[in-house]
Amino acid sequence: MITTKEAAARLGISTQAVQRAIFRKTLPAEKIGRDWMIKDSAVEHYRQTHLRKPGRKTSESMRERGNKNVLRTMANRTARYGLPMAITLDDLEFCRKYWNQQCLVCRDKTLTRHLVFDHWIPLGRDECPGSIPCNIVLLCAKCNKEKNHDLPATWLDRNHPGEKERVLRAVTEYFESVRKAFIGNKELDSYLD
Ligand SMILES: [Zn+2]
Repeated sequence: MITTKEAAARLGISTQAVQRAIFRKTLPAEKIGRDWMIKDSAVEHYRQTHLRKPGRKTSESMRERGNKNVLRTMANRTARYGLPMAITLDDLEFCRKYWNQQCLVCRDKTLTRHLVFDHWIPLGRDECPGSIPCNIVLLCAKCNKEKNHDLPATWLDRNHPGEKERVLRAVTEYFESVRKAFIGNKELDSYLD
């Protein structure tokens, strides 16, 4: 049996969404003391029946809607720092596919944490080139939170020293792939030094 918070983390949805599912009785749960507890099997069943329906049009458009929200938030944040905003929906998809829909640090397929498009050099850092394809990577929410406003090397030294070399190399290779993918795109040339 797990808590609503744990179920939310496992399903990659908010605790409120889990609570709503319990109240709607689409997710069976048991009240123990003040807390609702959920069986592992119920969580898995809920995942199968209510989440992630590959091949369905709705899941694709939901992702597109999500990506549009990401872009809107990113544009607002970037504007606050007066930096370039040059990310498109295609860039987000390229990034997601390249990293195989996994956090580049954890690389755990079973992980259902939210994935986040992360500014590799954080906005607000003098070195930050802005929201451009060569500064966006895919992290899980946990890694993104750990990284916070630190530079990649600082964060990796602190939280993932054993992975530092691999991760830095992988990101360099990724940014090279991005550059290759954008060769010939005059509009972006100025952002890709
Ligand atoms: Zn991670």
